[in-house]
Amino acid sequence: MKFKARLWDKLDDDKVKCHVCANECVIISGKKGICRTRKNFNGELYTLIYGSLISSGSLDPIEKKPLYNFWPGATAYSIASIGCSFRCQNCQNWSISQANPTDNGKDGYYDLNEYENRKMSLIEMTPEQLVKKVIKSKAKTLAFTYNEPLIWHEWILDVTKLLKKEDIKIILVTNGYSTPGASKELIEIGISAVNIDIKAMNDDFYKKICGAKSVQPVLDTAKRFKSNGIHIEITNLIIPNINDSKEEIEMLCNWVVENLGKNTPTHFSAYHPDFKTPSMKRTPFETLDMAYQIAKKAGLYFPYVGNIRHEKGSNTYCPNCNSLLIGRSGYSFTKINISKEKKCLNCEYSLKNDIIGEVNKK
Ligand code: SF4
Ligand code: SF4
Repeated sequence: MKFKARLWDKLDDDKVKCHVCANECVIISGKKGICRTRKNFNGELYTLIYGSLISSGSLDPIEKKPLYNFWPGATAYSIASIGCSFRCQNCQNWSISQANPTDNGKDGYYDLNEYENRKMSLIEMTPEQLVKKVIKSKAKTLAFTYNEPLIWHEWILDVTKLLKKEDIKIILVTNGYSTPGASKELIEIGISAVNIDIKAMNDDFYKKICGAKSVQPVLDTAKRFKSNGIHIEITNLIIPNINDSKEEIEMLCNWVVENLGKNTPTHFSAYHPDFKTPSMKRTPFETLDMAYQIAKKAGLYFPYVGNIRHEKGSNTYCPNCNSLLIGRSGYSFTKINISKEKKCLNCEYSLKNDIIGEVNKK
């Protein structure tokens, strides 16, 4: 629904400048920003997707986000809207991320080739209505996921404010293209965990593949969240011939070690051709295994491999004695070797800083 936006400046001639994401769009009257979800109405900026959802939500394993160390085995009530601050050529969720809301935020439509004028229905909810559903579902976490949550800023703030009172943790699965001002509001309202995509370590990738300017805001956001006590996990989707070089993966792992810490879970994810298919090949096992080995060598305690079968890459090992802590098969656990006090059952290493919530058997 249409709702007055936060974080924007009024400029001359009824223009506005939005500070919700690092695109920092200057928008003339009657036009939308890059995300297509914020519109200038006569010199005032509005979001069109406040409380506009693609469905009433679904229950996912938290591991699907992916978050492996935040609250292993927890359920995430997952919601999404439409729009995104990026236009990634490989987007697997392009049918929602590249849709436009109507001016009242009640429906979506496309302006993509071959999909022009196709419509999609959205469900409107108030924060109170959503909170009731989440409580009824008994999920311990709410995940803003599938499309880009940072552009849903006002809605996230209002929902988080209510869910915090119910002790339900808030998760964002995001491209990390935030601004200092927007991050500050999210930190202050009390989000708990974030999975940030670091898509590549160079601006060229962000320009050519995502239609964004630079990787720097993403790195800054990750550092900002981490230094404010938010649990961070990183995802890197490896696309054959595009961001799969040994040097690039080394650079990413070293950056995570130096800036976020060795205990930052880092997920290497397999690509498959989708949307505008920047590569026609799927990521081979060997490339993901190489990334796993590079991450280990760089000193990362918790490298993971997703979207492909890689036995070690789906398990959690003790950073001290390297014995198996959590064995996984898909989203199920095959083994849990962690005590109630959150210690490794083999060497008693304390995992309090590495695994945040209790481990739920499943
Ligand atoms: S949220 Fe980002 S992309 Fe959307 S209007 Fe604001 S600055 Fe532009
Ligand atoms: S940032 Fe994510 S949701 Fe947005 S276009 Fe890229 S892959 Fe899709």
